Amino acid sequence: MIRVCVLASGSKGNSVFIESERARILIDAGLSGKEIRLRLLSLNVHPDDLSALIVSHEHADHVKGIGVLSRQHELPVYITEPTYHAASSMLKHIEPVHFFRDGVSFKVGDLTIRPYASSHDAVDPVNFTVSNGNIKLGLATDLGFASALVRNCLRNCHALILETNHDREMLRAGTYPEPLKQRILSRLGHLSNDQAAELLADLHHLDLRHVFLAHLSEANNLPDKAMSAVDGVLRAKPVRTAIHVCSQYRISAEACI
Ligand SMILES: [Zn+2]
Ligand SMILES: [Zn+2]
Repeated sequence: MIRVCVLASGSKGNSVFIESERARILIDAGLSGKEIRLRLLSLNVHPDDLSALIVSHEHADHVKGIGVLSRQHELPVYITEPTYHAASSMLKHIEPVHFFRDGVSFKVGDLTIRPYASSHDAVDPVNFTVSNGNIKLGLATDLGFASALVRNCLRNCHALILETNHDREMLRAGTYPEPLKQRILSRLGHLSNDQAAELLADLHHLDLRHVFLAHLSEANNLPDKAMSAVDGVLRAKPVRTAIHVCSQYRISAEACI
């Protein structure tokens, strides 16, 4: 069995907790160490019992709490070398550090973690699939578009953490400066509700049990809009998949798969 909970998701902080029989990991820790600890404790998980911290890219909303959690709880950090250097001022001194590369799987306990390259405005951005051999989770946030590689990596997942960053019309009509709008809409930006819905339609299969809608923009999206975009896809399918909207302010529903 795998247990998954999105501790936070959004531009103010991202972190995903995943537990298997022999591993407990965080993918990203973009809140303060204190806030991550509180959210873990609300799941009855002590940070000392984590096996590893794994980093997707150097943006502060993914890295902010990594250094302090690693030092205070003696947790190893898995990261790519370019991301490690780009994030060094936030990470400060951490050890041990394990470098990985996109496309090369590594193990933490009984979990196999496969990093895959994503299209985003960071030095070496990756997303991950995580599997214990029976259950496979797929993460896809902070990406400007879903390439063939993304689609191939995310096939046959039992749960997906999928970016529904913005509603295109809200973004276009909103108050963000034009260059920022262009950055978000670009292939190095973030997935819109429509793009996520299209990706989900492509990836859906009968054993997809949970979809977490992640990294919603506060200014350019609404939970109802994200939900209805993907619900339109799922309603036509024969098997009911649970949808959970994630927030940066509170933990998501837990899925035990
Ligand atoms: Zn982010
Ligand atoms: Zn980012």
